[in-house]
Amino acid sequence: MRRVLRILFNVATVVSLVLCVVTMAAWVLSYQARDFFSWTQADRRLRLVAETHRHGLAAGVFVPVGTGGRLLPPEARWKYTAPKSYAQTVGSQGTFFKRFGFVFEYSENGAFALRQLACPYWFIMLLTTILPAARLAAWRRRARRLSLHPTVCRHCGYDLRATPDRCPECGTVLKAKGG
Ligand SMILES: [Zn+2]
Repeated sequence: MRRVLRILFNVATVVSLVLCVVTMAAWVLSYQARDFFSWTQADRRLRLVAETHRHGLAAGVFVPVGTGGRLLPPEARWKYTAPKSYAQTVGSQGTFFKRFGFVFEYSENGAFALRQLACPYWFIMLLTTILPAARLAAWRRRARRLSLHPTVCRHCGYDLRATPDRCPECGTVLKAKGG
């Protein structure tokens, strides 16, 4: 169980790091062009959209509303257009959060409803940096502790002065030193 958790923790760290790098790339590329992605579910009752702006990422979900029974356009596409300012989507007016570039809005036009989520790239990068940075700090702390105290378990840091062959805490068997 402990091993499974450690693997999941490592996977989460790597995924977090990859997302951080992808976000940074999207941020840089958003100055060259605007990526627009949309995908409609087969029954045309759900459409996902995502677009990159110069300062942030916006994503939304469309669903049909009302009695007209209109369905969403059947499309899945990825296109590039001229870069677009984030303010054009987010707007500089509104609540405290909106002025800082955070959007969570619901709107409808009679036929379709849109739930939109938008946030600045720096925020995504901040969130995805936390776990890798914490792991790096812990790793450096452990490396430092091992260099200062060679009599602790390399695996869990338990004091091994009384039991130099096997760690009583995590069970790691240690190689006998010298001959
Ligand atoms: Zn140990």
